[in-house]
Amino acid sequence: MPTKNVLLLHTGGTISMHEDDSGEVRPGERNPLVDYIKQIPNVNLITEEIFHLPSPHITPDNMLYIKDFIERTINTYDLNGIVITHGTDTLEETAFFLDTTLDIDIPVVLTGAMRSSNELGSDGLYNLLSSLKVATSDSARNKGVLVVMNDEIHTAKNVTKTHTSNLATFQSPQYGPIGIVNKGGVFFHHNPVINAPLQVKSLTKNVYLIKAYAGMDSQLLDALLTTKMDGLVIEALGQGNIPPLMLPAIEKITQNSIPIVLVSRCFNGIVQDVYGYEGGGRKLKELGLIFSNGLNGQKARIKLMLALETTQNHHDLEAIFSM
Ligand code: ASP
Repeated sequence: MPTKNVLLLHTGGTISMHEDDSGEVRPGERNPLVDYIKQIPNVNLITEEIFHLPSPHITPDNMLYIKDFIERTINTYDLNGIVITHGTDTLEETAFFLDTTLDIDIPVVLTGAMRSSNELGSDGLYNLLSSLKVATSDSARNKGVLVVMNDEIHTAKNVTKTHTSNLATFQSPQYGPIGIVNKGGVFFHHNPVINAPLQVKSLTKNVYLIKAYAGMDSQLLDALLTTKMDGLVIEALGQGNIPPLMLPAIEKITQNSIPIVLVSRCFNGIVQDVYGYEGGGRKLKELGLIFSNGLNGQKARIKLMLALETTQNHHDLEAIFSM
């Protein structure tokens, strides 16, 4: 069996933390994974500890750094796959950022853990080994960025953290995982749709994400209008509707040519311009809101940040969010 070159990037998260006697989980001086995983049969591991951060500390600039690091390293080594360990809280955002920007065909796998390194039933090492299996599998090529946790293989586009503490937290609502990984190997049962990557070199846009709720009015949006806002994502109600009291501010934002992307706070389904009442999707479409095709709010925000680096054109933005 030929040896495969795999880049293993550690960024932090629970997978690299430990629990002390009081039950507090925190990062230590060293990431224990660096010592645990040194040699895997038929794999030449190139291990880099680029961050040691809990994932609530990860920023889009960190994500861009990971993308640039991968692109630089691919040119240095003849890589066959990449595994990134990451805190689970924002793992889906980093995975989606990389999926939207990387132009590579080798497997890229993100993984993490719900229990830290010395806890009973810790899942970190297991998830890491599963991820290495996927990253070295030829069947995982050309599938975009993948998330491997708890024996399942998910796409970056569909996966989301659904539970605060359960090991089976990562799910792809509506679509399910695209494969499984177990003792027998790596098995895919679906091929994801792959879109052309967005070419992004820097991040300069300020994009906010807000969630609509019953009785919401314009106050929060008016406050956002006093800031430097380049784009806004609204998690709307149901199929893409908002309370009518939000409309005055929505109109002001669109008059200022600030793009607003609409997603749903439902975690299944897509937004559509169905309802014609005040605040209904049909009216929002007429106002120029961009309807996203099923991304959740946090991923639509990442996508709008990235898209705005490539275009300000409304039709181009609509096309990007239709993919
Ligand atoms: N709060 C932790 C983090 O995201 C959770 C985890 O890694 O599972 O860093």
